[in-house]
Amino acid sequence: MTTTASPIKFLSQIAAEAAARRKELLGGKTRHIVQVAHCSLAVGADKVVAAVRQAVGENEVIIVAGCDGTCFQAPKTVTIAPDGRREVKGHGVESDFFALQKRIAMDGCGEIDATDVDDYLAHGGYAGLAKALSMSPEAVIEEVKASGLRGRGGAYFPAAMKWEGARKVRNSPKYLVVNAEEGEPGIFKDRHLMEGVPHRIIEGMAIAAYATGINEAYVYINAEANLSAHRMEKAIARAKAAGLLCEKILGSDFTLNVTIMRGAGGYVCGEETTLLNTMEGYRREPRLRPPFPTTAGLWAKPTVINNCETLANVPFIMAKGAKAYAAIGAWPSDSKTPPNQRASGTKIVSLSGSVHRPGVVELPMGTTLRQIIEAVGNGPMAGHALTGVAVGGPSSGVFPTSMLDTQIAPGLLHESGVMLGAGGVIALDERTPALDVVRRLAAYNAAESCGKCTPCREGTPRMVDALDRILSGKGAQSDIEELRYLADVVGAASLCGLGQAAGSPITSALRFFGDEIAMRVASGAR
Ligand code: SF4
Repeated sequence: MTTTASPIKFLSQIAAEAAARRKELLGGKTRHIVQVAHCSLAVGADKVVAAVRQAVGENEVIIVAGCDGTCFQAPKTVTIAPDGRREVKGHGVESDFFALQKRIAMDGCGEIDATDVDDYLAHGGYAGLAKALSMSPEAVIEEVKASGLRGRGGAYFPAAMKWEGARKVRNSPKYLVVNAEEGEPGIFKDRHLMEGVPHRIIEGMAIAAYATGINEAYVYINAEANLSAHRMEKAIARAKAAGLLCEKILGSDFTLNVTIMRGAGGYVCGEETTLLNTMEGYRREPRLRPPFPTTAGLWAKPTVINNCETLANVPFIMAKGAKAYAAIGAWPSDSKTPPNQRASGTKIVSLSGSVHRPGVVELPMGTTLRQIIEAVGNGPMAGHALTGVAVGGPSSGVFPTSMLDTQIAPGLLHESGVMLGAGGVIALDERTPALDVVRRLAAYNAAESCGKCTPCREGTPRMVDALDRILSGKGAQSDIEELRYLADVVGAASLCGLGQAAGSPITSALRFFGDEIAMRVASGAR
């Protein structure tokens, strides 16, 4: 262990040098921030960068940032004059888009130079790491435990318990793997973080690795997320050059090496044991559990797997303290539940579908779906009425509009199987009927099944067939019974999370849209 103050002192020296460089570069100049992300590239952000580069004068600079989550405004630029005046150029009006948001993981997205370590340091970056390195690893784990942070990948397992489990295993080396696979439709928040604040993920990784006694980390990035991989790579190189990812980080005894690996392609690769299999060069299939990865993971060594959003919350917890984090969105909100048993903080939601303002938004746990769709997304598209909301991705389900006051909370939102999952919220109107969406989710699960276990391999396509018969007006009562039976059996008997949750869209449809299903069967009409 190092002396208590040295990492913090080290960081203040590095930050002071960074601030001097920034002053020289930006002082007295107008800044043109261009938000370049995978979504804005699709609508010409690269052309905007080229045009601004051509036009900048002597007293102006261009900053390439990620996106602040306002997908509806892309491609967007923010010009900041030396006196602080801001001018935003983009589609639509952001006005109260940010009003309900609380930015922890996404803080700085769209404002800071995405990969520049000096800009991140000026934004308070790496303060959480310096604080962690001035504490014992056990104390870091206790702090994260007290914060109530749960993994943000969908399972919501308490982050500190995973770390504690891995720390206690006597086997080395140990590995940290960042799960940045995020292959499911309607969810794009980890890409957003990697593109906008890659240094925050690196900082969170370093804290997690220090707490668990790990010196080797891997970032497993979706095969199609090229911009994310590029930005992470650049940020890692810059953190290394600044002495923040190296041997004896910030003067401590802690060393961390980080390597990027690209995903093998496919939804099931986000399942953590499948991810490990593909990293080792094997087929993209899950492994039997136990043993769990914290005991025997990558190359049979203890492995901690966290996703990007989880890690991006950790710097705040270390820098501002567990109490400050636990006070945000604490769930459940009753005073009887001790803070370390609550899930607190924020959730990043990928908002899309029939809303005027689709985007990536970070909201306190407990925010309602109505607030997300109406206050943040500004309601359904003109001339259309909301008919439902698909929550959580292909492993979750669809709510009718009567459930809009449901609050987002970790895990299960309703006994019908609707879960928060990784945080997708898709607003539906009459152009995308709920049952069609359920059919698409079911077909997606069937197509993505790896085929290793029979219930999922055989059951998921049978659910699609039954839905097809019902939706085409050729269904019978027996199809409804078949759906009910298969959703239960596939969920109970499948090997991994894909199959275990494949029945959720069906169960939610039977629960909330059962009358429509029965009517289609009875009338034989679509
Ligand atoms: S549940 Fe599906 S995806 Fe998972 S192992 Fe079985 S067949 Fe493969």
